[in-house]
Amino acid sequence: MPETTFMGVPRDRIPWFPTINYDACDFCMECDTFCPHRVFERRGDDPRLVVANPTNCVVFCRACAKTCGPDAISFPEKPATLALIKRIRQEEAAK
Ligand code: SF4
Ligand code: SF4
Repeated sequence: MPETTFMGVPRDRIPWFPTINYDACDFCMECDTFCPHRVFERRGDDPRLVVANPTNCVVFCRACAKTCGPDAISFPEKPATLALIKRIRQEEAAK
């Protein structure tokens, strides 16, 4: 089961997931083979992986990027994401 909250914040409010640069991707599927969380999907005959389930991605994990030879996977900046999480927590606490 994917987590539904992270640090007390609803997971779907946290924009942490991989982005694939299709200009660099060589369609090797290593990232999908590596990740156990079903974040990626292939659709039909298209060789490109789609980030189909972004909220399945574990917040602050970057592990699949290390499997990517052409360095085609990127993530948001961790400090900015952490700041956003703290801001959302403060908003939620003030409600
Ligand atoms: S960062 Fe981690 S959880 Fe997210 S897609 Fe990559 S391997 Fe899966
Ligand atoms: S590991 Fe990198 S090159 Fe291979 S399919 Fe994933 S994003 Fe593309």
